[in-house]
Parts: sequence; structure tokens; C-alpha cells
Amino acid sequence: MEQTLPVSTRTDGERRLLDSFAAIPPTERVRLAKRTSNLFRERTRSSTPGLDTSRLTGVRVVDAGTRTADVDGMCTYEDLVAATLPLGLAPLVVPQLRTITLGGAVTGLGIESSSFRSGLPHESVLEMDILTGTGEIVTARHDNEHSDLFHGFPNSYGSLGYATRLRIELEPVKKFVALRHLRFHDLATLCSAIDAVVDSGSHEGEQVDYIDGVVFTRDEAYLTLGRQVDEPPAAGPKAPSDYTGQAIFYRSLQHDDKAAKRDLLTIHDYLWRWDTDWFWCSRAFGAQNPRLRRLWPSRWRRSSVYWKLVALDQRHGISDRMEARKGNQPRERVVQDVELPLEHTAEFLDWFLDEVPIEPIWLCPLRLRGDTTWGLYPLTPHRTYVNVGFWSTVPGGTGDGQPGATNRAIERRVAELDGHKSLYSDSFYSREDFDALYGGDGYAALKDTYDPRGRFPHLYDKAVRHA
Ligand SMILES: Cc1cc2nc3c(=O)[nH]c(=O)nc-3n(C[C@H](O)[C@H](O)[C@H](O)COP(=O)(O)OP(=O)(O)OC[C@H]3O[C@@H](n4cnc5c(N)ncnc54)[C@H](O)[C@@H]3O)c2cc1C
Repeated sequence: MEQTLPVSTRTDGERRLLDSFAAIPPTERVRLAKRTSNLFRERTRSSTPGLDTSRLTGVRVVDAGTRTADVDGMCTYEDLVAATLPLGLAPLVVPQLRTITLGGAVTGLGIESSSFRSGLPHESVLEMDILTGTGEIVTARHDNEHSDLFHGFPNSYGSLGYATRLRIELEPVKKFVALRHLRFHDLATLCSAIDAVVDSGSHEGEQVDYIDGVVFTRDEAYLTLGRQVDEPPAAGPKAPSDYTGQAIFYRSLQHDDKAAKRDLLTIHDYLWRWDTDWFWCSRAFGAQNPRLRRLWPSRWRRSSVYWKLVALDQRHGISDRMEARKGNQPRERVVQDVELPLEHTAEFLDWFLDEVPIEPIWLCPLRLRGDTTWGLYPLTPHRTYVNVGFWSTVPGGTGDGQPGATNRAIERRVAELDGHKSLYSDSFYSREDFDALYGGDGYAALKDTYDPRGRFPHLYDKAVRHA
């Protein structure tokens, strides 16, 4: 293939990656050997060594002139943001969890409160170097011979190849983010407010740069509107708040007033506001209990630590054994993000609150940034969606006796309402349904071209069969 880099110009990281690829017997599946993950579904363990990505974790160049960055595929957003913020720049979409990598967010569709204006992370990628199943590293852009791979890469979860380098756009950011938390007593009104903000980019005369929301109950839901500012605004606090200590960000949203509650964060703390308590999921480990929180080292108040605790629990079946002692079935894990068209969001939330005992729920409005449709996750350009996130467990053994009764019900409801489900967690689709929902025909053609010998698992096998 053209555009393949000659070996001599490859970085040390790429050489290690290629050597590790070559060392995997041709009959074995190729997979990542990577220290961190934000993937929730279980994966089949393999004794074969994986791809060595240990030297593909850095920021190569931040170019303030062109407002672009060249970044290794396994570089975390935490490291990238640390390099860009001193220059007053940030990626257009910074997923909330510090250890999410650029490659992971592009292939697995990250999202954030800037997504109503900047779309998804892959929409600000200018080009990517991708290790394909043929063992070559190719450069894919929207307009070159590998444009098919560029457009098929989002939502492929490493099943077509691994990004080794990404060139992405950056945007200027200011020192602080001024927040307004708006309270809603019904979800239809909240959805109308999302519509107005997404259309106008403002609310009551103030610009909106960021918007997300939290539903605590049907009667208590919030939208948080963020505006970038250089100085603390006249209305609201004069000094930034700190939610990395004893105070907890999601609790700070709650209030009874008709008027918005105002707050101020540094841009750094705004970008990582959800990581400290993994949204609210740190609750499960006691980290929100004031006494334990005081003893919990602050460097361990981060999503990657909680994630390791979850992995430990799963490996040793601790929670399942505790349920069994009480005479209960293992609880069903319901850790999902789904996208609903805005006009169906209130209906979905109504159904969810009736059927699924999980709260709070995260909301994040989203509109594709451009006119392009991305084959493996076909959202419609110019249409507003709302990402609805819920991450917990429900009593197991309910429904028709099949595993995953609640997850299956959610999949059905999302499909009925013309929505989409992210694939980072458990999925139960039949192969037919999966292909219809996630661009199966286009995917098959890409797989033939870029992974003809099936060195990487098929997307369906990864997403549904835990390959
Ligand atoms: C509880 C929970 C909450 C989440 N919340 C959010 C959220 O709020 N916002 C958000 O944006 N996202 C969220 N995610 C989803 C997350 O963005 C995706 O799972 C993403 O793929 C994770 O990226 P990672 O770098 O951690 O990759 P990993 O978890 O290591 O891998 C994820 C998948 O991507 C593939 N992959 C990894 N690196 C590459 C690469 N360089 N090239 C190609 N494929 C690669 C892997 O093979 C794997 O299939 C959440 C996930 C969980 C579990």
C-alpha cells in the first residue's frame, strides 16, 4: 500500500509495536497489551503476548500556530491536556476520565459537554497513522486513499487496526469556566431547554460553551451551563471551587432555588470535574463517606483507581459471593451510554425511571460537528441527540431468565426510539440486529481490505462475545 512509512523514519515506539506484531504467530489473534482501560465489558484472557504500545504514550508536538497536536495513539487525555493548557489550548472534546487515550476515544466514541458544538472526538482528527491487520502502518485522512479507513475507524474498537499517531485540532480556552446549574422539575421542560441552548449557543443572554446535565429523580434534574471566562464574572463566586478534596462536584449541583446556582472552576478542574469521583460511582467504594474520604489519599481519588477496584471485584467475584450469602442471584451490571434523538429523550427517561432502579443519570447533548456520516455509528448530521449515561447494577435473575434482562430491555427501548448504544460495555444484540445498527456491510468491506486474515477480532465478537 502507498503511504506506508519506510522503516527508518518510524519512531522507536512504532518499531516496538511492529516487532511485537511480527512476534505474534499468524494463527493467533492480535490484541493490545496496555496498562489502563476504560472498557467495561469482560474480555477473554489470552496467554499470547499482545502488542507492545509502551512507547506510544506521549505527546509528540503541540503547534500553537496551527492549533494542532500530534499525539501517540495511547497518549492519555490527562497527558495531552497537561501539554496544551499552558499554551491556552485544549482538544475540542476532552472525555471526562483522565486515562482515556486518544486512540481509545476516537475508536470508542468519547463525548463531553462541548459535544453540542464540537461533536465527537473523531471529528477533530485531521489524520491518523494506523497499524492494520496486514502489519503495515498507513496514514489515513478524510481525502486520501485510506479515507475509507478514516471514516470507518470510529466505533471499530481496534477491530480494523490500532491508531499509533493522531493529528488533532485544538481550540483556544480561557482560564476559568463560569457555571450555572439550572434546576428542572420535569424532564420535558429540561429537554426544551437543551433544544434552545443547542440552537442558540446561549441562555438568558450569556454564551454557553459547555452543557451537560444530571437527573437525580423525575422531579430533580439539572442542566449545567459553562462559559469560558478570563476573570471571575460579576455574578457568582470570585474564587474557583475545589472538588478534589472533601467537597463532591455532583452534590454541588443540587439546590432548591428558582434562580440558577452559580459556581466557578479553573479550566483544568472543569475538564477533570467528573474524574475525581468517577461521576458519582466512587460512592460504591465508600469514598463519599466524609470520614473515609478524609483518610482516602487524594492521589487515589481518580477514576483509574476505582476502575481497578471494580476489576478486582470482578476477578474475585466478591460482590457476587456477598449476594449469594444473602440468597440472591448475582446483580446484573448495567453500565451503558446511549444516544437518543432529543425529541425522544424525555420519553426514554420516563421509561427508564419506571423500569430501571439506577440514579443519578448523566445527560450530554450532542450534535455531529460536520455533514459527514460515520459508517459504524450512523448519527444524522444536524440532528440533536442526548447521550444518557447510567453506570450501576440492578437485581439479577429478573425477566425471562436470559442473562442481561435489563440490558436487553434497554437495547430494545433505545432501538424503538431511534437511538444508538455505545459498545464499550455489555451488549446482547443478535448478529443481524448488530449489523443493521452498526454499518455491517461497510464494515465487512473494510475488514476485507485492512484485516483480510482476521488478525484482529471482528467487531461483533469484541462487542457481544467478549472476544
Ligand atoms: C463507566 C464508564 C464511563 C464512561 N464514560 C465516558 C464518558 O463519560 N465520556 C467518554 O467520553 N467516554 C466514556 N466512556 C467510554 C470510553 O471513552 C471508551 O470506552 C473508550 O474507548 C476508552 O478508551 P481507552 O483509551 O481507555 O481504551 P481501552 O479501554 O484500553 O480500549 C477500548 C477499546 O478501544 C480499543 N483501542 C484502544 N486504543 C486504541 C487505539 N490506539 N487504536 C484503536 N483502538 C484502540 C481497544 O482495543 C478496545 O477495544 C466510559 C466508559 C466507562 C466504562
